[in-house]
Amino acid sequence: MDASGFLVPRNEGRTITACTLTSAKWLHTAPEDKVLLRCYIGRSGEQEWLGWSDEQLVQKARHDLGELLGLHAEPLFTEITRMPKSMPQYPVHHLEKLKLLRMQMTEQLPGVYLAGAGLLGVGIPDCIKQGQDAGEQVAQHVKEQILQAVTVV
Ligand SMILES: Cc1cc2nc3c(=O)[nH]c(=O)nc-3n(C[C@H](O)[C@H](O)[C@H](O)COP(=O)(O)OP(=O)(O)OC[C@H]3O[C@@H](n4cnc5c(N)ncnc54)[C@H](O)[C@@H]3O)c2cc1C
Repeated sequence: MDASGFLVPRNEGRTITACTLTSAKWLHTAPEDKVLLRCYIGRSGEQEWLGWSDEQLVQKARHDLGELLGLHAEPLFTEITRMPKSMPQYPVHHLEKLKLLRMQMTEQLPGVYLAGAGLLGVGIPDCIKQGQDAGEQVAQHVKEQILQAVTVV
């Protein structure tokens, strides 16, 4: 499997919204002659899967994998993790609101900085970058506080 996975757009009318070829992305996650797949179900406005049983979820995912990848093998095992509302959805004007929030925080909560998926990107690299930026801002704030204290003394 020469890929790390694929996304399924809404207009495809499928149940799965994405599939990670986990053992192609991270080789250590399966023996050489086996394949580990991770399918995602549910997207903004499509939350009916919350009421489905584990068996239904597996059956729906296997149906899509059969049609999309021609994969009909019986899985050796399946594992389901239910994570409702786990993917931030940015509304229109999100960036303007974030800018305003940050300005208010500078005035009302100096020294407190924000980072995370709900702000500027859900990918892990986005979150790491935001964490690093926030860390630098904290360091700068502390430096300014120390300089201020020294100046007063
Ligand atoms: C199913 C799924 C699959 C994903 N796959 C990928 C992928 O393959 N590649 C990729 O780049 N991204 C992926 N993402 C996105 C990425 O994992 C997340 O966007 C990212 O981990 C979010 O990081 P975060 O630091 O903002 O939040 P989190 O990782 O959720 O960290 C928040 C932390 O705060 C803690 N916390 C919450 N409330 C409190 C509190 N009151 N007091 C103290 N601690 C608290 C939580 O326990 C948690 O440890 C995926 C997301 C999901 C849901």
